[in-house]
Amino acid sequence: MAMSHWLLKPCRMPQAANTQPICGTLTMKPPMPRNAVRGDVRKQNLCLACHTPKYFYIDEQRTCIQCGKDFVFGAAEQKFWYEALGFYGTSVAIRCVTCRRKKRDQSSLNQQIALAKTGLKKSPRDPSLLLELAEAIILYRMATGHGNLEEAISAARLARQIDVHVIRGIFWEGCAHMVAGRAEKAKKLLNEYLSSSANSTQQPALKTKASQYLKQLQSSV
Ligand SMILES: [Zn+2]
Repeated sequence: MAMSHWLLKPCRMPQAANTQPICGTLTMKPPMPRNAVRGDVRKQNLCLACHTPKYFYIDEQRTCIQCGKDFVFGAAEQKFWYEALGFYGTSVAIRCVTCRRKKRDQSSLNQQIALAKTGLKKSPRDPSLLLELAEAIILYRMATGHGNLEEAISAARLARQIDVHVIRGIFWEGCAHMVAGRAEKAKKLLNEYLSSSANSTQQPALKTKASQYLKQLQSSV
């Protein structure tokens, strides 16, 4: 018999929901190696004309392209990628979990910067947006070494000029100076932030951070 009936999901063809297998490809259950996780071929996004479906998953040893460390692309994780998230069956993890998280954090900070800037075009004197911009720029700079700290400082200052109650602006301005290597300015502002927020129960995380940064600044001098 011709093999053409095996070509169930040809590449570049939209996969109709009612595409039904006409042979055993999708229901085959070959014997599984030890510690393997059973795959459900029907849930996999894979051209069966070009690739073997994933009847089972086994842990794969890989090397992270970003940090160069070895990591395990686990069987259960693979099943989740290919069957729950719908990733195409030939895509594989190229980064370790830590680097994947870092990349995600960076792209969300980038997005935060872009959103704040878009908002500021409409409302250039919105203190929340100004603070959002300052914070995202500084965190991005801390994570990547890139980002315009002067822009962050101007935004944090303007937020505070518009509304004196925005004491978080002092914190972020202090951080920006710290990241820029201006320790004295940073210490002055972080201390100012801590004394301004002393009577408030808000922003406990920022207060902790401010104290930590001050300790680091003191010990590095
Ligand atoms: Zn890595």
